Amino acid sequence: MAYSLLLRNCGQLLTLAGGPPDRPLTGAALSDWRILENAFVACAGPTIVAVGLMAELDETQVTAATTVVDAAGQVVMPGLVECHTHLVFAGNRAPEFQRKLQGESYLDILASGGGILSTVRATRAAPEAGLLDNALRHLHDFRRYGITTLEAKSGYGLDRETELRLVRVAREAGRRQPVRVVVTFLGAHVVPPEYRGRPADYLDFLAADVLPELRGEADFVDIFCEEGAFSVEDSRRYLEQARALGFGLKIHAEQLHDLGGCAMAAALGAVSVDHCDYLNPADAARVAATGRTVAVLLPLVPLFLRQEKYAPGRQLIDQGVPVAVSTDFNPGSCPGKNLWLALSMACLKMGLTPKEAIAAVTLNAAWALSLAAEIGSVEVGKRADLLVLDVRDYQEIPYWLGENPVRDVVIGGRVCE
Ligand SMILES: [Zn+2]
Repeated sequence: MAYSLLLRNCGQLLTLAGGPPDRPLTGAALSDWRILENAFVACAGPTIVAVGLMAELDETQVTAATTVVDAAGQVVMPGLVECHTHLVFAGNRAPEFQRKLQGESYLDILASGGGILSTVRATRAAPEAGLLDNALRHLHDFRRYGITTLEAKSGYGLDRETELRLVRVAREAGRRQPVRVVVTFLGAHVVPPEYRGRPADYLDFLAADVLPELRGEADFVDIFCEEGAFSVEDSRRYLEQARALGFGLKIHAEQLHDLGGCAMAAALGAVSVDHCDYLNPADAARVAATGRTVAVLLPLVPLFLRQEKYAPGRQLIDQGVPVAVSTDFNPGSCPGKNLWLALSMACLKMGLTPKEAIAAVTLNAAWALSLAAEIGSVEVGKRADLLVLDVRDYQEIPYWLGENPVRDVVIGGRVCE
């Protein structure tokens, strides 16, 4: 088969291949994946069709029609999979930054009508075209960081009309540019003012009046299980209703308190449990026992909230929990899109090794979106989402703190501008 795209002279090709095909990478497998030195990747249309050493390259498949990218000895790897963002919102919360610096906590600001609720007011008032422009601008920034697939949550509408609008905007943003967008419904982000003190009634409303509208529109349903948001019992009932409607499940849990949301959601078959800063060892063992539920670690959030407690990444890996790393991009607790910085912080504050952290932003992040059969590694048959970096050794990736190492981005076999 003639190659439409060839990446040649890859000094280190981080394949992420070599692990079990049917479940996320855990334990030693998180760092046992293969690196090929002096290698190539060949694509036909949107698909990878050959991977190997330069000495094995079949030059007869390289024609005048082949786009050839010379990696010139640099690192080549799968496109980054950003598996947890709140992409679509209006306004920003820069004024709260100073309040945080002066000592107010996230929950203090939420209780005073700030925090999420101030973004909800701005988002409800925003025209759909403006929300779409914002989302496209953010997606452009993410693509420059090498993100080739991104999960986008709703959750700043908290009413039927606005939540459906946010889902529509996320889907439309996915159609208008190359980064693949996976949509998650997070109507259960916090209790809206209209339902103050009645979280269960609000969840009943979402389950009855909104979830049925989202079949085919959203892939996953998520909930914020936390003090001041939704209890474990209310979350369980809601997620069971979502599962019965055919949605995949996710949860924000153990971000600020150890309530038991992660173990509950894992038992329901959630694809991911996100945050996990306060996840205790007994519940971590319950998550590990599923062999499937990915713990999504979000190290930029405690950084931005000035909290000392980070998710126990090293311990989770040693317990056999599959981990992914994401930014949690959102206007309140992480207005940052630099997944490379999150990767470095996962090493510095959570004890991941560079190879573990690289797996956490590629193949395991793909598992957290149920997309590991298509993306997350450089293997024949997978989608040609690839990065050429400006470094020669993978160990430089977490080392150059806060830099963007991306030289070229390939999505679906096409080199992005
Ligand atoms: Zn989040």
